[in-house]
Amino acid sequence: MREHRIKKTKTVCTYCGVGCSFHVWTKGRKVLKVEPHPESPANGISTCVKGKFGWDFVNSEERLTKPLIREGDHFREAEWEEALQLIADRLTEIKETDGPDATAFISSSKCTNEESYLMQKFARAVIGTNNIDNCSRYCQSPATQGLFRTVGYGGDSGSIRDIATADLVIVIGSNTAESHPVLATRVKRAQKLNGQKLIVADLRRHEMAERADIFLHPRAGSDLVWLSAVTKYIIDKGWHDTRFLEERVNGFEEYVASLEPFTLEYAEEVTGIPRATLIRVAEAIRDADTTCVLWAMGVTQQQGGSNTSTAISNLLLVTGNYGRPGTGAYPLRGHNNVQGASDFGSMPNNFPGYESVTDDAVRARYEQAWGVELPKEPGMNNHNMVNAIHDGKLKALYIIGEDMGIVDSNINYVQAAFEKLDFFVVQDIFLTKTAEYADVVLPGSPSLEKEGTFTNTERRIQRLYRALEPLGDSKPDWMILRDLANVMGANWHYEHPSEIMDEAAKLAPLFAGVTYERLEGYNSLQWPVTEDGKDSPLLYTERFNFPDGKARLYPLEWIEPDGTDDEYDLHVNNGRLLEHFHEGNMTYKVEGIRAKTPQAFVEVSPELAKERGLKDGTLVRLQSRYGAVKVRAFITDRVKGHELYLPMNDAGEAAVNRLTGSKTDVETNTPAYKDVAVKMDVL
Ligand code: SF4
Repeated sequence: MREHRIKKTKTVCTYCGVGCSFHVWTKGRKVLKVEPHPESPANGISTCVKGKFGWDFVNSEERLTKPLIREGDHFREAEWEEALQLIADRLTEIKETDGPDATAFISSSKCTNEESYLMQKFARAVIGTNNIDNCSRYCQSPATQGLFRTVGYGGDSGSIRDIATADLVIVIGSNTAESHPVLATRVKRAQKLNGQKLIVADLRRHEMAERADIFLHPRAGSDLVWLSAVTKYIIDKGWHDTRFLEERVNGFEEYVASLEPFTLEYAEEVTGIPRATLIRVAEAIRDADTTCVLWAMGVTQQQGGSNTSTAISNLLLVTGNYGRPGTGAYPLRGHNNVQGASDFGSMPNNFPGYESVTDDAVRARYEQAWGVELPKEPGMNNHNMVNAIHDGKLKALYIIGEDMGIVDSNINYVQAAFEKLDFFVVQDIFLTKTAEYADVVLPGSPSLEKEGTFTNTERRIQRLYRALEPLGDSKPDWMILRDLANVMGANWHYEHPSEIMDEAAKLAPLFAGVTYERLEGYNSLQWPVTEDGKDSPLLYTERFNFPDGKARLYPLEWIEPDGTDDEYDLHVNNGRLLEHFHEGNMTYKVEGIRAKTPQAFVEVSPELAKERGLKDGTLVRLQSRYGAVKVRAFITDRVKGHELYLPMNDAGEAAVNRLTGSKTDVETNTPAYKDVAVKMDVL
């Protein structure tokens, strides 16, 4: 009977990096309602459609409830003991035959911080490899790199509240109103109530663009050029923050010299943005006491994603827009815990808290705590793993919660790689496209069925509590990792995720003061957190995160995207829709949401529709150099000329990554998803 009592449980939304927290009311397994709480630090009493209504997937009949073991071309259900023993035997065998680096691991934003910590510990301490990465490789690694090399930490420099109080907000390559709806609401409110100014740069005239005081429509992949030209103009006019630069920043003279090519004339020619508009942008920054820049995948998923992210940080440094309330750099993390997956060490080069695996003293600290010798060289990232499978160097892959066979670029190549693996384990809540290729599929639990912590876009660590019991025989991912490690002789004793966090806090100085007690209920902590529990809502108030405390201006070159040509004459932009999450395997299982946006479409400009004789609903085939999709046209003036927009939320015939190629950001290997040229046939 207890099953049918109504209860309310605090949780954290699983759908985007804003990190809204709220009470979820349940009766038995039924989710009755979501009730935001005034003390929710990121959202107050707001949620968006996904956070409020997007939970029915937890009871989907398609949920995995038993481990599955491949037998020929089908799966059979198995007990946990058999499945874990099989994985342990095969991983041991591959390690003994081909060495520890023949196996690789991928964690994801669907894991809690504690689960990402355990996954990297499993890779390093049990298998002995640094081949561990996570889904941030597909989105925000370039933003992190751009910030690492200029200001020292890769995360947002302030808090959502700083964005709301800024005089000027600049949004670049982010459809914030649909991708981070509650955060966008704060900007909309600040515009209305405080006269906040808004500049938006995007290929698409989405809602935020409509609301902007200045809307820039640069040519695809050219943001670095207009950003650098505006920065140069500000310096040429003497509007830069001389005192801030002298006291807090290194490399000004060298940086100024590097800006020489970025004249307004050059920027107009390359980006198509009129010179007069660029001057208005520079003047708006001059006139604002505080400026924040928000950016997302329109910037990062380019061959020059890291460089453009760096250019944003350069502009903020030149104008003194770091370290004060209402200023700063805000790469908007897409998924709920994409920040935490990297923070807690699921990276090929870093232990938790961004300490390098090549640092002998750091490695010695972990070796002593874990009682094993650890690998010294950085491992492979996601992109290199796929190539290594094709080259026969990587034999086994273990993925938690990432539908890599749909969300990586050039999926025909990725799926072909899966077929070459000697052994493949996928841990997920559904039999995803990726899981279909696995040898063993383990049923994990979604956020409502587990305890742990997530870290949102503003570095805020928050607790989620278990609202539902795991469905069938499914288990939280941390339990599965613990049990597997123990089958392989590791002797891990974790009984609750708080014990994992205690261990991480002891080992990683960035989280020194993080405890479950300090995170009780709606309490939260923004890293770095000192041992006494003092957290950091605003970074760089006194020093940047380099040994001398000074930031570094970073000279840059523009990396021109491949773009279109005579044959592949249309550019495909891609991204999210308000109603759907990622590849859609959760939100398409929520009836109300599916009814509202049941299928993918491609946005086509009125000019192109006229040129090609398209009507709303015309079925078209888009063909790139890598693959093709079939999708219906939707005519809208949100896009212009030969630019198309294809939502990324379809895992079927319209999956955008059938079109994307293997080019990546040159620094981080994040796929250049936004650099896609296609030709179109009307079907
Ligand atoms: Fe969830 Fe993001 Fe919507 Fe908040 S804004 S409710 S975190 S999807």
